[in-house]
Amino acid sequence: TDTIGAVLARTAERYPDSLALIDAAVDRQWTYAQFRRDVRALAAGLLRLGVQPGDRVSLWAPNRFEWVLTQFAAAEIGAILVVLNPSYRRHELAYALKQSGTSVALAAERFKDSEYAQMLADVRDQAPELRRVVLFESDEFAGLLTEPTADESARVDEIAAGLSASDPINIQYTSGTTGSPKGVTLTHTNIGNNGYMVGELVAYTEADRICLPVPFYHCFGMVMGNLAAVSHGSAMVIPAPGFDPAATLSAVEKYRCTSLYGVPTMFIAELALLDTVAGSGTSGGSRKFDLSTLRTGIMAGSPCPEAVMRRVIDEMNMSQVSICYGMTETSPVSTQTRTDDPLDLRVGTVGRVGPHLEIKIVDPVTGDVLPRGETGELCTRGYSVMSGYWNEPEKTAEAIDADGWMHTGDLGVMGDDGYARITGRIKDMVIRGGENIYPREIEEFLYTHPDIVDAQVIGVPDAKYGEELMAWIRVREGAEGLDVDAIREFATGHISRHKIPKYVNVVDEFPMTVTGKVRKVEMREKSIEMLG
Ligand code: ATP
Ligand code: MG
Repeated sequence: TDTIGAVLARTAERYPDSLALIDAAVDRQWTYAQFRRDVRALAAGLLRLGVQPGDRVSLWAPNRFEWVLTQFAAAEIGAILVVLNPSYRRHELAYALKQSGTSVALAAERFKDSEYAQMLADVRDQAPELRRVVLFESDEFAGLLTEPTADESARVDEIAAGLSASDPINIQYTSGTTGSPKGVTLTHTNIGNNGYMVGELVAYTEADRICLPVPFYHCFGMVMGNLAAVSHGSAMVIPAPGFDPAATLSAVEKYRCTSLYGVPTMFIAELALLDTVAGSGTSGGSRKFDLSTLRTGIMAGSPCPEAVMRRVIDEMNMSQVSICYGMTETSPVSTQTRTDDPLDLRVGTVGRVGPHLEIKIVDPVTGDVLPRGETGELCTRGYSVMSGYWNEPEKTAEAIDADGWMHTGDLGVMGDDGYARITGRIKDMVIRGGENIYPREIEEFLYTHPDIVDAQVIGVPDAKYGEELMAWIRVREGAEGLDVDAIREFATGHISRHKIPKYVNVVDEFPMTVTGKVRKVEMREKSIEMLG
């Protein structure tokens, strides 16, 4: 396999005049020739800062063009890029800088109410190896982007030629959906191949433009987005620094995007916007969006409700939309639906295992492979599996077994046809009166109610049954009377009695991670408080 630098070099040679990157916030764009030139300038700039191959360089900013340039510049010289979550506060920032042994940090000065520059200064004494901070807004950063001398260029080439694709180039701290973040360490081979695979399976070419409202600091943006694009000569389109449904749809329209990414909650927000536009007539400055250029896209990151998938196909023109399943530890994608899969499988499963990868479903207790159709833990093996958690050999050994299988902690079922379904996380499974209940199944059912826009089901402690089910729902604007009795009536006769939620909590918002994932741990804590 190639290093990421070699992948970019090849694309820039093949498609020098194709669009590589568009940043809508500043209305700037780069062709592949221009993009590679700036990447190499920044790589030389990093060398001037004293960065060596293998050094950890932290990157802390929302989605903006400097982020993408830094991603590829660091890879060019084999620096290990530590991608920091834009919502970090001092404590998490200090942890990641110290745990990774970061020596140089590149960052935005601020984002929304987060003063990154100030926070970086505040934690300086807790990150002993950090010796340099460069802000994107500074003259110093502009200096790093200036044309390198011939000697400097030669030095970049020399370093690039000495890199191996099996070297680590990335540390990504996990979303923290289920616990404290771990530094997933990934190599060129891991993420370069995975990005290439994702792009192949949605048939990207140099004509595609991918709208990326998903965060770059996460694999969804940086691998399934940026690396899929760069390995196919497609364009990366940044609609806005943070997720904004209107800015996203405007960018699709303005830059004639052919592909759109999102976690389910993002698509739900975009569909809601299309609804209000459709319902609002000429009022209040809302307008329709021209989505006719869209062809494909990816929904991933958490369970993708069938009803939402069908609406994305019908109402957003994304007839070839694909679902991916995976996790940061596996670069991330393990299974993916193909654009030519039958519709029912394309909206109702996470697809088949990717080329050169293996998956199996095992009994979580005995580890035995289960027959098709039975629910168990999904395990995966192949080039995509991380080299480990940074400096945490014990946690690595818990996750990856001696035969190289990554134990995902996710529950899945393998169908006779080779299509997998994810039924939830082991930790989210509810045991009520000795019966295993998968919240996902009930969530899917609740989504079929015309007034429910979003539904999450969790287990809460119960004296009689051990656990009882509680549904948190968000309802369509103007909808009324969706209480526990209404839900019971709606569900009776359609799902088994023991799966009908005992409690219903109607909310405006769910607790979320910045990646747009629902924090069930927090919902459970709040529910327990509520039930007092
Ligand atoms: P942490 O590991 O820190 O608790 P996290 O698991 O949410 O956080 P990620 O690596 O971003 O961190 O997410 C991977 C997880 O997301 C998977 O293990 C799975 O539970 C869920 N997931 C991803 N894609 C899908 C999908 N298509 N369907 C269902 N679940 C999905
Ligand atoms: Mg995880």
